[in-house]
Amino acid sequence: MYDTIIIGAGPAGMTAALYAARSNLKVALLERGIYGGQMNNTADIENYPGYAAISGPELAEKMFEPLEKFGVEHLFGQLVKIELDGEVKKVITEDEVLEASTVVLAMGAQHRLLGVPGEETYNSRGVSYCAVCDGAFFRDQDLLVVGGGDSAVEEAIFLTQFAKSVTIVHRRDELRAQKIIQDRAFANEKISFIWDSVVEEIQGDELKVQSVRIRNVKTSQVSEHAFGGVFIYVGLDPMSESVSDLGITDEAGWIETNDLMETKQAGVFAVGDIRKKHLRQITTAVGDGAIAGQQVYNYLLEHTK
Ligand code: FAD
Ligand code: NAP
Repeated sequence: MYDTIIIGAGPAGMTAALYAARSNLKVALLERGIYGGQMNNTADIENYPGYAAISGPELAEKMFEPLEKFGVEHLFGQLVKIELDGEVKKVITEDEVLEASTVVLAMGAQHRLLGVPGEETYNSRGVSYCAVCDGAFFRDQDLLVVGGGDSAVEEAIFLTQFAKSVTIVHRRDELRAQKIIQDRAFANEKISFIWDSVVEEIQGDELKVQSVRIRNVKTSQVSEHAFGGVFIYVGLDPMSESVSDLGITDEAGWIETNDLMETKQAGVFAVGDIRKKHLRQITTAVGDGAIAGQQVYNYLLEHTK
């Protein structure tokens, strides 16, 4: 029986584990893949305080190192389901049933893919899903942003501080983004739009993206445009399928919490990208993790009095 089982060893889960373990709790960290989560997908992180630049895997390693020292038990496995049985939470993986007084859900989110030719080939070579992370690498270039939601339009505005021009391609003739964000984009001289259109193919040489083939969905006409980078924002999917029966997610699957990272279920916390929140970054993930790690301790104090 653990005091807490943390599911997902990205920055949020590792930080929650560190804080809980330093409170002298019996902590297990369950991960189905590589420690570090999405950080493992990026070569350069330039917005994590304390490091001018650090590779994702190196930062993951640095976050992982102290966990052993404080006695965190590392478990390899995939969460399938959680059963809430009074004060005992049953964490069911593909291979075993674990028990804990609390659980911290830190399974992250996944960027939805466009699914067009060239997207995978040029991933991290001109194709990006994170303007905050990669925008500065595209100074003075012509960039394409795909999508019409808050993320696409906000990130397109963000990219104008680096780019020569930013074009937003959207599959309809009106944006989904909030009006105020739309107005800012329409007023920005560096931003232009290609309406009613979808990306057909991302093309390039052996090094990086050079151009994009775009199809107008109304006329079926296909045209080729030169772009140095393609930022894809067609939505994120939370990795919350395994807890969808707990009544803690919104209609899109994001887990709702209060400021203490508590969900609607007592003793069940959620941290990082899987939460309903505005800024999904490493810094905000570790902030969430610290709060939850401490709150697990407070919860156990109250419930073992
Ligand atoms: P994640 O990092 O997604 O970790 C979740 C973990 O949970 C994963 O290891 C996953 O394997 C595990 N998991 C999921 N489901 C299960 C399950 N059922 N059972 C067991 N384990 C499970 N942010 C920045 O601040 N700066 C950057 O420069 C930056 N660059 C990025 C570049 C790329 C290419 C990407 C993809 C993201 C980048 N981000 C960056 C965003 C940042 O990586 C995320 O915001 C952050 O990793 C979220 O942390 P997390 O711990 O909430 O989730
Ligand atoms: P989103 O709101 O789901 O928008 C995704 C966009 O991508 C939509 O415009 C959608 O088109 C388009 N799209 C989806 N699949 C596509 C495909 N296969 N090909 C081309 N286009 C495709 O996702 P998001 O913008 O990432 O936002 C996610 C959530 O975070 C939302 O709730 C959002 O409000 C919130 N958020 C809020 C803020 C803020 O408040 N400042 C900032 C960022 C995000 P359609 O419009 O035609 O469906």
